Amino acid sequence: MLRYVTFAIKVQLNVHDLNNEAVAGNVTDIRIMDFLNENGDRVEAPAVSGRMLKHWHYEAMREIGLDLPFCDACKIGEPVRPAVIVSDNGQKKLSHQEAINKGTTEVIKSCMICDVHGYLAAIGTTSERRSSRVMFSWLMPVFGSKSEAKQVIHSRVKSGMDFKEAELTSQMPYSKSYASGIYAFVSALDIERIGLVELNLGSEQPYAIEVSARKQRAKMAIQAYRHLISGQIGASLSHAMPHTKPIEILVAYSENGALPFPVSPVYQKYIEDTVGLMPEHAKLLYWGEKSPEGVEKRSSIDEIFQELIKKMEEAKQ
Ligand SMILES: [Zn+2]
Repeated sequence: MLRYVTFAIKVQLNVHDLNNEAVAGNVTDIRIMDFLNENGDRVEAPAVSGRMLKHWHYEAMREIGLDLPFCDACKIGEPVRPAVIVSDNGQKKLSHQEAINKGTTEVIKSCMICDVHGYLAAIGTTSERRSSRVMFSWLMPVFGSKSEAKQVIHSRVKSGMDFKEAELTSQMPYSKSYASGIYAFVSALDIERIGLVELNLGSEQPYAIEVSARKQRAKMAIQAYRHLISGQIGASLSHAMPHTKPIEILVAYSENGALPFPVSPVYQKYIEDTVGLMPEHAKLLYWGEKSPEGVEKRSSIDEIFQELIKKMEEAKQ
């Protein structure tokens, strides 16, 4: 059974606004980050926070895991997890306290997302937290590639019975920025800790759920990466789905234990540096144009995912 997987992903994204995290009035601006290139020179370019990538992994898991259990908060995409719906004077509302009162084991049993993505619920001076089993870097432009960003003006489209020309003044045009570039991110999925209650470590049954449920949840978490690779990231998918082209995928997995993070594809020699960093129990799979040493090349991205899923299904623990 798989215990740990890391991803190093390089994609081209054309005309996306998936990092519109800086909003000021009618202007939604792209988030620009400062960083150092391989020569140590300062560069400014559009970048997307790992918080956003993690959120879109969460959304992909919700989308593909419909037949798996969710808490009430995760059912409706409420970011403050975990929660259950309670009745308060006839009014239904989400209560974090109720969910926490159930205890970690029950929360994990009843929600695969709270299990995999963790949670932080603070009530008064006490807090309950579970660390995420999935970790993300920021999405950054690959060094040496060009990054473009342009601001365009949109006007809100309005028509129908209630359309009044006199009220057009209220239809403020607004500006939005779109960016294009070749980007990379790295991510790690700690499969061995899915379903694990850390406090129970050392006991006979440290896991809150059965092996079959752990496998099923891990498979969902792995499959969700396909959606990220396809550019299914950002809040504007209904009208600004990015034009995405995967360029390179480097996956490292282990059936023995945890792995270090891969070297980021923003750096030119990331494949050989990752090969040189990984322990012997890591297996490396690659999809892309190059033919690097120390990795097994696959002819499609699907082959890589198939192999991960197959390893996940194997009975060995
Ligand atoms: Zn949940």
